Amino acid sequence: MRKLISVTLLILFLYPFASAEVTNPEEFLGFKVGTDQKLADMHQIIDYFQILDQESDRIVVHEVGKTTMGNPFIVAIITSAENHKDLNKFQRFQQLLADPRKISDQEANEIVSTGKAVVMVNCSIHASEIGACQMSMELAYDLATAEDTLTKEILDQVILLLIPMHNPDGIQMVVDWYKEHLGTKYEGGSMPWLYHKYVGHDNNRDWYMFTQVESRLTLEVHNAWHPQVIVDMHQMGSNGARLFVPPYVDPYEPNVDPILRQEVAMMGTFIATELTAQGKGGVVHSMIFDAWTPARAYHHYHGGIRILTEAASVRIATPITIKFENLSPSMREPSVSMPLPWKGGQWTLKDIVDYDYAAAKAALTNAARLRENWLQNFYKIHKKAVTRTDPPYAFVIPAEQRDLTTAIKMLNVLRLGGVEVYQARTPFVVEEHEYPAGSYIIYMAQPYGGFAKALLERQEYPEIREVPGGPLKIPYDVVGHTLPLLMGVDVIQAEKPFEVNAELLEKVEKPKGKISLVGSAYGYSWGHVTNDDMVALDRLMEKGFSIFWSAEEFEANGKTYPEGTMIVENREGLMEELESIVEELWVHFDGLWARPGVQVYALRTPRVGLYKSWSASMDEGWTRWVLEQYEVPYKSVFNKEIRQGNLNEMFDVIIFPDLRENMIIKGLSETSVPPEYAGGIEEIGVKNLTEFVTNGGTVITLNGSAEFAIKHFRLGVENSVSGLSRKEFFIPGSILSVLNDTSHPIAYGYERDAALFFRRSPAFAVYEGTSVARYPTHTLLSGWVTGEKNLVNKSAIVDVPYGEGKVILIGFPVLYRGQSHGTFRYLFNAIYYGPSELIGN
Ligand SMILES: [Zn+2]
Repeated sequence: MRKLISVTLLILFLYPFASAEVTNPEEFLGFKVGTDQKLADMHQIIDYFQILDQESDRIVVHEVGKTTMGNPFIVAIITSAENHKDLNKFQRFQQLLADPRKISDQEANEIVSTGKAVVMVNCSIHASEIGACQMSMELAYDLATAEDTLTKEILDQVILLLIPMHNPDGIQMVVDWYKEHLGTKYEGGSMPWLYHKYVGHDNNRDWYMFTQVESRLTLEVHNAWHPQVIVDMHQMGSNGARLFVPPYVDPYEPNVDPILRQEVAMMGTFIATELTAQGKGGVVHSMIFDAWTPARAYHHYHGGIRILTEAASVRIATPITIKFENLSPSMREPSVSMPLPWKGGQWTLKDIVDYDYAAAKAALTNAARLRENWLQNFYKIHKKAVTRTDPPYAFVIPAEQRDLTTAIKMLNVLRLGGVEVYQARTPFVVEEHEYPAGSYIIYMAQPYGGFAKALLERQEYPEIREVPGGPLKIPYDVVGHTLPLLMGVDVIQAEKPFEVNAELLEKVEKPKGKISLVGSAYGYSWGHVTNDDMVALDRLMEKGFSIFWSAEEFEANGKTYPEGTMIVENREGLMEELESIVEELWVHFDGLWARPGVQVYALRTPRVGLYKSWSASMDEGWTRWVLEQYEVPYKSVFNKEIRQGNLNEMFDVIIFPDLRENMIIKGLSETSVPPEYAGGIEEIGVKNLTEFVTNGGTVITLNGSAEFAIKHFRLGVENSVSGLSRKEFFIPGSILSVLNDTSHPIAYGYERDAALFFRRSPAFAVYEGTSVARYPTHTLLSGWVTGEKNLVNKSAIVDVPYGEGKVILIGFPVLYRGQSHGTFRYLFNAIYYGPSELIGN
């Protein structure tokens, strides 16, 4: 008895310390999460999670890898201590349910009854939407320490993969900027640069191309665990709903399984119900956000629901006040999609943290309580996928490709998404056409066949109008995403089954290049057709070799070489360079015994400037990224330098990424950014640029920035689609057909027919200069077009001579989100063509 009492006393005595064993966020940070004007930065968040890893047996933190800027990218795995002992088993269960070819229905049922639901919570992918990453510390702490029934149920039934920051680099930038301007009139304002080194807000448009490091790191976690539920936490504008949750609005991309669509709706409304029950007003569903583009929804093709949450923003961590009457009108009346309006008043970081916390907790609750349903349906979705018999049967990627390296890149992108790629060992016939051995095959009956299909087929965006006869309802994002068209890869859609001897590839390797006629006296030629051909050019230019583009076709070695053939003259060290190039790149060099007797463009190493506005342009970031990937050297050029002049001394080519004319000329105002970032190139900058081009420089404008060049260089070119209403002309991000003038150096290496991505783009009527590419009568390849006739015979690329130099208008997103590999070469060509010189034979 005495012993029992002392044990009880001991328990009572120890109890307060039992939870104190785990440091809470306030103890660590020195302030409560969500306190006005207080933010934890990247280092603090990482350090705090390391503490949780050490202090709690419910949390294990892994560093998945390093971010773009070299910071740790972490994931916290949170579940009961008991479950942690069996993580490998539960992971294996997930993998089996995701591939029903490996188990029987009976085995699946056993896993369903003993497995765990897996939930991923991805915080603050958009770094300025910072509430969720702050909240992640609270959520983790509570799950590490709480002993209530619900928490225990969640920990028992669910494995949570918590990514506290999808973009740690950006969180650090945003917090640093915020702290630096605290107490000034710029407090809570936006940064004059991107919150991801290269892609800014587009880091959330990367979920099928996986161009960025953070996308790939998240994919690693996702593909190891196959979560059933993914909560993707964002923030939006301030005057609408307090929190958006799904259901989404139409349209859904057709390859998303109907079971999954219902699950999205069920989870979304469950979260909305929980928040409403807690008295949290202004929670809305079934608005604004659709589920068309896979660029934001990898999960929808991998058995997991993407629950987008969008909380109303404050000014980073500075509270705002919104009067009820200033809320958008639909937010002031109860409706089916928002039965409890928010009353208005002060809205703070803490409110965002609380709403986000409640949403994450609700998702975990639902996953725990309906664990078996989640697992069963997850299995069913994949069972349907692997037993699919609907056409198409497969996609064939013939081994004979103009740009085989890019075709292989496309296959490897699909493989990152879990798609199985087969290769034919012998020739085979599909619908009466024979394909060679070595061709690739992607069958539709496989776990992620739907993902492959969505990316390989052409999109027919549905006609959803605002009102009958009215304009198309604006899609949330772009509507065309056919990779073979974007990347310039030949792909055949095979409707019916065919016979072939093919094997599943462990990896898809690219072939090496080759050098023929080694020892030729004059030099070597190579193609102008592939992106690898361009990288070979960059490398040889960088080493200072003399390089030409033939301006006419020529005969040598008993064959005909087309216009645009690249030629490098012999010099010491050339052979070593060529040998190292063909080891790595798919480039074929042919020896030449004599200099071809035709006109050539003599190239010079272009000194490239890339205009960088303080408006934090994503297109500028993507341009940097692509130029770096393809080894084109460049320097950023700022307003100040353009205003200073003497541009010819520094640059041969200046590229203007997609920007509005007003942003280039006037820039941002001092009311929104500190004085050193305010202003644009101004009138003096225009004068300096015209001088630059007059003296032989080249200005290249991308997409919308053509407007700037047309106006200020007073070009004889007109944007013939400006001023058209949305009812007359609307292309919400589609893939169009274009006809090249293949004799123009900017279109060297292209065939007459090509595809490009069109979004918020001009279409040129050309009264001066040369049209390099024009739109045909029927131009839509994938997506949606209203008012196709407005494009007929209008130009997509124009080369306008100006003084000694050139203004080149590329009137579409030529490097679109790092995806349009098929059009990259237009820009590379323009860069080299600009400062080149046409010389006789
Ligand atoms: Zn966002």
